[in-house]
Amino acid sequence: MIPLDTEVKYVKGVGEKKAGFLAKLGIFSLRDLLRHFPREYEDRRTVKRLIDILPGESACVEGAVVSTPQLSRIRRGLDIVRCRISDGSATCEVSFFNQSWQRSRLVPGEEYVFYGKFGGDLLRRELTNPVFEPAGEARQTGKIVPVYPMTAGLRRSDLTKLIETALAAAEGQFPEPLPASVRERFGLVDAESAYRSIHFPENDEALADARRRFVFEELFLLSLGLRRAREGYSGTPPHVEPRDTAEFTRVLPFPLTHAQERAISEIKHDLCFGTRPMNRLVQGDVGSGKTVVAAAAAWLACKSGHQTAFMAPTELLAAQHFRSLAPLLSRFSIGTELLTGSLTAAQKREAQARIASGEAQLVIGTHALISGGVEFRDLGLVITDEQHRFGVRQRAALAAKGSEAHILVMSATPIPRTLSLIIYGDLDLSVIDELPPGRTPIKTSVISANRREELYASIRRLIGEGRQAYIVCSRVEDGDEPDDGRKAVEEYAKTLREEVFPDLRVEYVHGRMKQKQKDEVMERFAAGEVDILVATTVIEVGIDVPNAALMVVENAENFGLSQLHQLRGRVGRGQYESYCVLVRGGGGDAAKERLGVMRDTNDGFRIAESDLKLRGPGDFFGSRQHGLPALRVADLDADAETMTLASEAAAELFRKDPALASPDCTETLAAVRALFREQAMN
Ligand code: ADP
Ligand code: MG
Repeated sequence: MIPLDTEVKYVKGVGEKKAGFLAKLGIFSLRDLLRHFPREYEDRRTVKRLIDILPGESACVEGAVVSTPQLSRIRRGLDIVRCRISDGSATCEVSFFNQSWQRSRLVPGEEYVFYGKFGGDLLRRELTNPVFEPAGEARQTGKIVPVYPMTAGLRRSDLTKLIETALAAAEGQFPEPLPASVRERFGLVDAESAYRSIHFPENDEALADARRRFVFEELFLLSLGLRRAREGYSGTPPHVEPRDTAEFTRVLPFPLTHAQERAISEIKHDLCFGTRPMNRLVQGDVGSGKTVVAAAAAWLACKSGHQTAFMAPTELLAAQHFRSLAPLLSRFSIGTELLTGSLTAAQKREAQARIASGEAQLVIGTHALISGGVEFRDLGLVITDEQHRFGVRQRAALAAKGSEAHILVMSATPIPRTLSLIIYGDLDLSVIDELPPGRTPIKTSVISANRREELYASIRRLIGEGRQAYIVCSRVEDGDEPDDGRKAVEEYAKTLREEVFPDLRVEYVHGRMKQKQKDEVMERFAAGEVDILVATTVIEVGIDVPNAALMVVENAENFGLSQLHQLRGRVGRGQYESYCVLVRGGGGDAAKERLGVMRDTNDGFRIAESDLKLRGPGDFFGSRQHGLPALRVADLDADAETMTLASEAAAELFRKDPALASPDCTETLAAVRALFREQAMN
C-alpha cells in the first residue's frame, strides 16, 4: 500500500516539472490530490439534437462528419482544422485551433459524440475545440465530468488521471475523520464513496451526498478545532485590576460614543472578571473609532503591570498607531515601543532589550511581534488591528509559546450573519454601531474614464480649499503581485506632476518602497506637506489623515466592494465634506451595477453582504482574510443548514469527549490537529 502522504513527485509520470505545477495548486501529496475538489462539473450525459441547441449552450451531440476535415495555416503559430458535422436535424461547423492532429482522427462518414460549448447564432452553429470520441465509446462523454482548478502548464487530462491514480491508491485507507456514530446519526456517506463521488459522480444524487458530507466534515472539524483552541487553556488568565476607565478617557480630546463606552466596558469585564483569557472581537465600520477602544484595553493591562502587544497589518499602520498612542500613554507613564522592519539592527536589539526587561509596556508592530523571536517579560494582552481574523492564529502562536494572554481583535470587515453564527459561536463580540458625531457622509460618485478632465478640475478646486487627496491605482499588468503596483503608481504620479498638476505637491507610495521611504512620505502627507498622494492599496487600512477629503480610485472595477469601502474610509475622518470618486475603466454593466452599490450606501455591513452575493463565498474565504482554514466546499447560503448541524454535532461531541480520546475519534483528533497546524503556519 502506498501511504497517502507520498509526495506527488514520486508518482509515476509526474517528475520534478509537473510536481512544480502541482505545487502551485497546493498539491504536494497523494492526499492533496484526493482533496483537490472539482470547481464545477460538466454534464455530458444527455445527447441533444443540434436543432434544439442555442448558442452559448454546452451540450453533447451525436453526428457524422459530413465534410473532409481541412487544415489551414492562418499564420505562424496558428492553424485550424475545420469540418462540418450533421445529426440529421441540422449541421454545425467544428473547428480546432492548433490541434492539427485532430484532422486524422475525424473520418468522414463516421459517427462521433462531441461535447463543447456551442457558438455562432441560431441558424449557423459553431463548435470550437470540442471533446469528441467515436459514438458508443462513452469514455469522455455520457457522464458527469469534473472541472478542476487548474494552473498554466498542466493538462486537464493529466490532472484528471492523477486524481484517478490517487483514488486507486487510497483504496482501503480513505481518510475518515468523521466518527461512525456521527455519520450514522446525520445520514452522511462514508469517506470512500464521498471521495469517489465528489470527483467522478455516477449521478446527481451521489454528488449531492458527497458534497453534503464534505460540507459537514469541513465545518465539523473547524468547529471542533475552534472549541479546542478556546477550551484548551487551564490555569488563570493574567490578572487585571478593575480600574475606572474614566481616568483614561478623561485625557482624550473628545467624548466617547456610547458604542465605544459599551465596548470598553465589555472588554474591562473580560479582562478583570473572566475565568478564562479574553477572546473578543471588536467589530466596527471604518472610522467608528476602534483605536481608542484598543488603547483603553492596553491602558488597563499595562496599569496592572502586564505588557501589551499591538499588531497592525502593515508597518505604515503600526507607525501611525505609534504616533498617536505613544504620547497618549506617556501621560500615564506607560512606555511605548515601535518594533518594525525599518529599525537598524542595533535599534532592534535595544528595542528587544526594553521589551524583554518590561520597560516597554505597550509594543506596537506587525504580527511578527508574536510569531517572531520577540521575548516579552509578561505579555498580558495581544491586540490585532484590522486583520479581520478571529484570533485563531494568535491563539495557536501563543499556545506554542505557553502564553495565556488576553486576546482582542479589531475588525472593520463585518462577517455575514450565517457565518458569524456558526464560526464565532463561542467568540465574544462587541459591535461599534455608531460613528463619532459630526461626520458628514462621504459623497460617492462613479464616473467613466473619459470624464477625467472634469475630475482633475475638481481635485484642483478641493486642494485650493486646503484639502488633500488620495488617488489609488491598481496594478496594470497581469502577473504583478497584489499590492505591488509600483509601475502603475510611479508612472501615474509622474504624469500628474509633469502634465496635470505641475504646481501641486504630488507624491506616491507603494509596497515595493523601503519602509523608511514609505514612513517619510506618509508623515509628510499627514503633516499637510503633500497635496496628492498616489498609492496602491497599501493605504487601504487604517490610515488616518483627517484633512484628506477626496479618495479617487482608478479602475475601480478591479476591486472588491469591501476593499473599496475600506479605501473610502480613508476620507471623511475630519470635519470636512468628503468625496469618493470611483473611476470605471471597463467591466461593462456588471461593473456599473457593482460600483452602484458603493454610491447607494455607506454601510459596511450591507456592502459586505452585496460583495458576498456578487462574488460568492469562494472569494470571501479565498482571500484568507479571516485567518480560517479556507472552506473548500461549503457555500454559505446553500449549505447553511448542513453547516449549522455540523457545528451542533461538534459542540455535542466536544461536551462528551473534550479530549477526543475515544477510539472512534482517533482520526478526528488527527484531522483537527492537522487543520490547525496548517493554520498556524501560514
Ligand atoms: P477605525 O475604527 O477605522 O480604526 P479610528 O480609531 O482610526 O477608526 O478613528 C477614526 C477617527 O475618529 C480618528 O481620527 C479618531 O481620533 C476619531 N475619533 C475616534 N473616536 C471619536 C469620538 N468619540 N469622537 C470624535 N472623534 C473620534
Ligand atoms: Mg483602525
